[in-house]
Amino acid sequence: MEIYLDANATTAVFPPARQAALAVMADSFGNPSSIHGSGLKARAVVEQVRASARRVLGAPSGQLFFTSGATEGIQTSVLSALCELRRRRDAGEPAAQVLLYGATEHKAVPQALHHWNALLGLNLPVLTIPVDRTGRHDLAWLRQHAATAGLVCTMAANNETGVISDLDAIAEIVGGSPALWLVDGVQALGKLPLKLVERRIDYAPFSGHKFYAPKGIGLLYVRAGAPFTPLLTGGGQEDGLRGGTENIAGIAALGAVLQAWEAGDVFQAPAALAAHRAQLVAALRAAFPGLVFNAGDAPSLPTTLNFAVRGVSSRLLLDLFDAADLRVSGGSACSAARAEPSYVLQAMGLDEWQTQAAVRLSFGALDSPEFIAAACARLQRCGEVLRARGLSTVAPAKAYAPPLVTRLLHGSACSYLLADGDSGECIVIDPVMELVEPITRWLGGQQLALRAVLGTGDGTAAAARQLREATGSGREAAVDAQGWPADAVRLALGAHELLRLPGVPDGRAAWGLRLGAKLRYALVGDLLDVEPCAGVTWLDDWQAHGASPETLLLPRHDAHGLFATTLASAGNARPLAGGVAENTEVALDRPALARLQTDVLWVDVREAYERDVQVDSRLIQGSQSVPLSGFVSALPQWLELAPQVAVVFYCRSGNRSAQAARALRRLGHMSAWSLAGGLAMGAEPLLARVAESVAHDCPAAAR
Ligand code: PLP
Repeated sequence: MEIYLDANATTAVFPPARQAALAVMADSFGNPSSIHGSGLKARAVVEQVRASARRVLGAPSGQLFFTSGATEGIQTSVLSALCELRRRRDAGEPAAQVLLYGATEHKAVPQALHHWNALLGLNLPVLTIPVDRTGRHDLAWLRQHAATAGLVCTMAANNETGVISDLDAIAEIVGGSPALWLVDGVQALGKLPLKLVERRIDYAPFSGHKFYAPKGIGLLYVRAGAPFTPLLTGGGQEDGLRGGTENIAGIAALGAVLQAWEAGDVFQAPAALAAHRAQLVAALRAAFPGLVFNAGDAPSLPTTLNFAVRGVSSRLLLDLFDAADLRVSGGSACSAARAEPSYVLQAMGLDEWQTQAAVRLSFGALDSPEFIAAACARLQRCGEVLRARGLSTVAPAKAYAPPLVTRLLHGSACSYLLADGDSGECIVIDPVMELVEPITRWLGGQQLALRAVLGTGDGTAAAARQLREATGSGREAAVDAQGWPADAVRLALGAHELLRLPGVPDGRAAWGLRLGAKLRYALVGDLLDVEPCAGVTWLDDWQAHGASPETLLLPRHDAHGLFATTLASAGNARPLAGGVAENTEVALDRPALARLQTDVLWVDVREAYERDVQVDSRLIQGSQSVPLSGFVSALPQWLELAPQVAVVFYCRSGNRSAQAARALRRLGHMSAWSLAGGLAMGAEPLLARVAESVAHDCPAAAR
């Protein structure tokens, strides 16, 4: 069962709301502007819902009209306020000097301010109202600036943290100034009494889809007497406030939600929401040692929890949760596609690790106690998997066999962990300071001893020292500048051996990992960037150590997701043009997958913890598991496959698998594919194909 805990991004549509939408499409589909019976029926729906919204929002007076959502409401409000400021300026009335918005506002607010400020030629300075560590506005700062402000924008509750603004205090400050006041009420709808009229709020936009109505329907409240300029002019609908034929289906659906809210017997009462929150807090604390809540003790919506787990990135947690069919988001949904730290948490002055590791969990007022209990159990399971894989601060009970080469990334910087499970030893190459903690944890989790820490160039000594200290492995006095033990000619790593490769320019080093007579990997640092690939002499020098055109050259930086280069593929690796370019189409959609006639090797490139936590375990059979972190370990065997064997990579969304497919093609196996859309688009077609491959004992799948 999917556990959806991302209600602040959007909610499911309340079933009676779906029915209401369908019913008006069937029975009251008329145009509310028509004066015949069908039109009158539709108009009645619109007015009933408006009346209900007035009661729910505490807006008996003023304008309340339907929009497409909050973004439109914000645009309309800002346009209205700024047109008035321009009028005042042009009329020689005391002019506004600044526009103010809270530092944690939804991006739609500052974007609208900058847009209309420039477009209307006002060009006023746009200032952010600072917030404190708990996310609440700096009221002293606001008091200082309010007298010169033309417009003040402060959200009622924050979408990322749930922190509730002190609207009474802000009302008192803004009330004593000439400024107009916009309150983004999106996250407060149905959760907080906004007292719109009482507080003299000028503009308040809302979005239906944050409160169980469909997307595409919203509301804008405008105080009686507040300046107004329509954003959309047209056929005079909504009393000329917003042109365009009304979205009757959306309005009817929103009406069904508001009606249920007013009836008071469907949505959870505040005490129940508080109890749900307490249960989730306890489950999170128990599942993830080292977890902190990012909003501290600030007054906040009971339904929002924003947290970070020390040493565990939000990317990792999101992948883990998603694999467990538990939907949450990192920071806010709008910024989740880009892996940027949350600007909301940055504005609160939180530590960098908190802003980068933030996860938002938000539930809804329709969620039942049984659902919350199931969510807690799922969180617990995620915590267990993280501990078992050595990714938590608690050491795991058993170790898993590590891949020969694991690559961890920080930006484009690569740290390599060469490991041998039998001897229990590991050699780290090019540690990055930011990865010292995850590497230490990884070593502990795999129960590996650190044999050596080596660099291929400048800038790794401090991280190497820290890693040795963190793991309690000494020897620093007896190593050279690159970390190589002074008394060693070779370092054994199980059946492999590591050696220093000759002919490399001064101040740099390249390390070769040899199995028998073959140099399988060369860790080349940034050598490929300094030496033109063609005509390099150091590669010739390596032949005596077993180097061949198939030797995989592993770089210290990998901005383009190449993973590795071989001499055979060097032309493909740099420059990209002419080889398999970064944007080569490798996606295999479902129909193409069904048509694939060749032998298929299925490769799941999700991390091990994602597989462990996966609710549907059928996928595990019949496919290889090679997480991207261990990708280079599997390259030699894939590069030996017959050219007609299709290697189909899959992951959660299709991003990591596309990276894998392109990398394998660049290295020479051209039948490499990525399952389009990943498992998020449903695993069924994949399951069918995997089962087929296994049933036919396809040699590739059995591998
Ligand atoms: N304001 C807040 C606080 C929000 O959370 C959102 C949506 O995430 C918006 C505004 C924009 O709403 P919509 O995208 O529905 O227009």
